Formats: sequence, structure tokens, C-alpha cells
Amino acid sequence: MHGVNDAGPLLVTGGAGFIGSAVVRRLLREGRRVVNVDALTYAGNLESIPNWASDPNHLFAHVDICDGAALRELFAVHRPVGVIHLAAESHVDRSIDGPGPFVRTNVEGTATLLDEVRRHWQSLPAARAERFRFLHISTDEVFGSLGAEGSFTEETPYRPNSPYAASKAASDHLVRAWHHTYGLPVVTTNCSNNYGPYQFPEKLIPLCILNGLEGKPLPVYGDGRNVRDWLHVEDHADALLTVLARGRVGETYNVGGHNEQENLAVVRGICDALDAVAPLPGGVPHASLITFVKDRPGHDRRYAIDASKIQRELGWAPAHTFASGLRETVTWYVQHRSWWERVRSGAYRGERLGLGVVA
Ligand code: NAD
Repeated sequence: MHGVNDAGPLLVTGGAGFIGSAVVRRLLREGRRVVNVDALTYAGNLESIPNWASDPNHLFAHVDICDGAALRELFAVHRPVGVIHLAAESHVDRSIDGPGPFVRTNVEGTATLLDEVRRHWQSLPAARAERFRFLHISTDEVFGSLGAEGSFTEETPYRPNSPYAASKAASDHLVRAWHHTYGLPVVTTNCSNNYGPYQFPEKLIPLCILNGLEGKPLPVYGDGRNVRDWLHVEDHADALLTVLARGRVGETYNVGGHNEQENLAVVRGICDALDAVAPLPGGVPHASLITFVKDRPGHDRRYAIDASKIQRELGWAPAHTFASGLRETVTWYVQHRSWWERVRSGAYRGERLGLGVVA
């Protein structure tokens, strides 16, 4: 059995975020022990892990990944068998308005974490050190923009265009360097856009679902023809645990949904699902709410990901189609009004003071 499947806990950074909480929910369902390290920025929400306070396998540590001393203590006390690194500033628009936090968390935080992971790994007995893994989660945005044809492979040169993408590219390089310089057993994944339950409503899909439910305009950048690949967050969590267990050390794996869509088609798909699940008064079609807004500066035109390596080597492929995943996601937001109303009102941030480390 692989070391990361051993009895020891996994340390997950960013486990209160959108993708991190999907990973944590999955690990807890499987009976794994999790040390969830999260600074609870605006994007962190423990309510995305419904049993976070009652599950004895979930230990929450209110810690910033830039705080090396706090990380060192967590590693010394909990002796994790692996690390899944998802903590990041993740929203491109915010990185355009203010790149500072992106450099701090994604670059400085990753370097601080890597150093503490190395210290921990070097302290492990040889057999455990050999089975230890550091899984770094990154994005396809590091590869820049594509024309009408082609897709990103693991060999595509890095050409990040936004401050977010540049900070993630830097973090990928740091992870690579800690492997080549110190031998740290790392694996990196680069994934396309995620969607699904518990996504913070600043990103395109939840924003449009919630605006649609409230009869508000559905903003679409530019001409709406920008293309992204979309992956259901639970498929992503599944890919990450597959790579953690069986990925080759020092390798990178692209993860995608085989779902290239123009933004406008995504928004129209949301409108169709909303018309079916939550029709507007008088049967007004949700598509009538679509509003084109000024394009994001430097908006990459097209991303497409070649995910054949992870399929070939590790046998992973996404389970959701975009049509079924989108319908399911729209239904989830309709049925989980209290989750997103507390996000929208800011109430989810109310009970966080003095959390410290909570078992
Ligand atoms: P998110 O913004 O929803 O969550 C990020 C989490 O990290 C939050 O819980 C936040 O509180 C925490 N965090 C932020 N700064 C921190 C710090 N300094 N110390 C500790 N915790 C901190 O992000 P997400 O969408 O879940 O993305 C997770 C990872 O996956 C990121 O690394 C992102 O770059 C990558 N990724 C995201 C997507 C996507 O579509 N969302 C696609 C590919 C890759």
C-alpha cells in the first residue's frame, strides 16, 4: 500500500476553500484523518464542510501558510503522511485589482510551506520519508492563451498573463526546485476551471446562478466567445487523490474535463437549467438577463487542456458530463439557499474569531 494511504493524517492547505473543501469532504467520507490548514480569507468557509466541528477525523488549524513557526508546530505534532496544497488567492479579477496578496500567499506562502514540509520530510524515518508526498495544485492558466486550435500539454512552455497566473507559475517553479534541489517527493497538477457545489459566488457559474435566481443581470465579459474547459469539482478531487496515491514523483499532470465551452454557451446552459428548475415569474426566460460587460484586461482567449497523460498513466477520467454537472450544480444552489445567503450577507465570517486549532 502507498504511504499516503497509511494510517497517518493528510495535511490539506486551503481546505475551507472551494476545491479544498471538496477534497476534505471526500477524505472524511473515506474515514481519513485530515489536518485542515486555512487562514479563512474571504474565500474560506468552514460551512462548506457540513460536519467540520463534529467529525473526530477533522482537525481545523486556523493558520496562515506564510507563518513558518505555526506550520512547523503542526508538522511536529501531527506528523502527516502527505500534504495536499490548495491554499491560494485564486480569483483573477482580484489579482488585477491588487496583486500583492497573490504574491504573498501563492509565492511567499508556498515557499514557506515547502521549507517546513522539507524539514518534516527530512525528519521522517527512511521508509516513511520514501512514501511521503507533497501534492501541489495549480492551474492551466500558467500556460497562457491558445488560438483556435491545439491544447496545453505537460510540455507546453509557461506564459502566464495575469498576476494570478504569474503567481501560480512562480509557485509551480518553487515546487519543482524543491524537488530538484532537495529531493522533496512532489507531484504537481495543472487543472482547468472548476465548477460545482460550494463555489464562492464571485466566479462565473455561481455568480450567474445566483443572479439568475434573483432576476438580476447575468454579466458576460466582452463578446462572450472566450473558451474555457470546465471540470466538476468532485471529479477534480478524485483526480487529486489518484495523483497523490499513484502519480510519479517529480511529474506534472494536466487535469481537464473534456468540456471546452464558450463563456456565452456556459451562461446560456445555466439559463436553460434555471428555466427548468426555478422559472422566473411570468415564464420570462433567464437568457433575457444576459448583459455584455467591458472585457477583463488581458483576458486570455482560449484555454484547452490535454488530459491524456493522467488517463494513460493513472487511468483517471472525469465522471461528469458538463450538461449533467451543470444541471446538478444549479439544483444544488436552489436547494442550499442558506449556504449562499450566509456567504452573500457575510454571516459566514461571523464566528471565526479565536478559532485557533479546533479538533
Ligand atoms: P478558493 O479561493 O476557493 O480557496 C482558497 C482557500 O485558501 C480559502 O479557504 C482561503 O481561506 C485559503 N487561503 C488563502 N490564503 C491563505 C493563506 N495565506 N494561508 C492559508 N490559507 C489561505 O480557491 P479554489 O478555487 O478552491 O482553488 C484551490 C487551488 O486550486 C488554488 O491553488 C487554485 O489556484 C487552484 N485551481 C483552482 C481552479 C478553479 O477553477 N477554482 C482551477 C485550477 C486550479
